[in-house]
Amino acid sequence: VPELPEVEEVRRSLEPHIVGKRVTAVRVDRADFVVGGPLDSIIGRRFETTHRHGKKLFCILDDGQTILIHLGMSGRIDVVPREAEILSHTHVILTLDSGQQVRQRDPRRFGGMWHYPSFAAATAAEITDKLGPDALQITAADFDVWIGQRGHLKPRLLGQRDVAGLGNIYVDESLWMAHLHPLQIVWRIRPAEKKALVKAIHEVLRRSIGMGGTTLRDYRNVSDQPGAFVRELRVYGRGGKPCKRCGTTLRSATIGGRTTVHCPVCQRRH
Ligand SMILES: [Zn+2]
Repeated sequence: VPELPEVEEVRRSLEPHIVGKRVTAVRVDRADFVVGGPLDSIIGRRFETTHRHGKKLFCILDDGQTILIHLGMSGRIDVVPREAEILSHTHVILTLDSGQQVRQRDPRRFGGMWHYPSFAAATAAEITDKLGPDALQITAADFDVWIGQRGHLKPRLLGQRDVAGLGNIYVDESLWMAHLHPLQIVWRIRPAEKKALVKAIHEVLRRSIGMGGTTLRDYRNVSDQPGAFVRELRVYGRGGKPCKRCGTTLRSATIGGRTTVHCPVCQRRH
C-alpha cells in the first residue's frame, strides 16, 4: 500500500513529465473511476504544478482545475509513449502534447481520480479536519492534541487525523526508532518523547524518499522502478528476528487489525 514516501516518489517522478505540458485528449474507460468527471474540461489546459498532502497527490492545471490522484492499494501511474501497449486495468489515459500519456491503472480499484474546478475546492474537500498536518511538516506541538486523550499511539498515528501520510510500515519503523511502544497511551507521552517521535518520523520518511520508497509487491514509480527502502526496514516484517539495536527477539502482534512488530526491550510502555 503506498504511503507518504511512495506517493512523494510518484509526485517527483511524474512532475517533470507533466508540468508545462498540454492535455490533448482524455480517455476514461470506467466512468465510476473518475469522480467529478468526465474530464473533458481539462483538454487544452497545461499542467502547472503538483502538490502532495499525506497520501493525496494533486495535479493543478493552468486555469486552477485540479486532479486528485489516489493510488489506493495497488494503483499505478505510468508515463509511457502514446504507442505503448495499453495494459489491463488501465482506467484513465491523459494524452499530452509531448506525445506521452499518463495512465492510471488499478487492478483492485481502491484508488481513483477526483476532478475539482479549482485547487481551493480540492483542498476544501480533501484536506478536512479529519486529516492532520502532513507527516513531513509536523512539529512536536502538533501532538499536543494528545493531552488528556486516552487513545493508543499506533492507532492514533494510523488514523490520519493527528498526522497525514503514515501507514503500517512507517509507523512501526518510527516507533522503533523513537523507543515508543505501539500501545503507549498518548496522554502519558512526554514532551521529549514527542520530539523524538517527530525526529524519527522525519528521518524514516526522508530516508525512504531518498531511496524511492518501499516496494513490498506492487508499488512502482511512473518509470516502473521499485523503491529500495525495503532493505532498510528495521522492524516491519521482522517479527521473531533479533532487534537490530539490542538483539532481543522482536514481537509480532495484531493491533487495530494491523500486524505490528516491536522490540519488547527498546520500546516499553509507561
Ligand atoms: Zn531492542
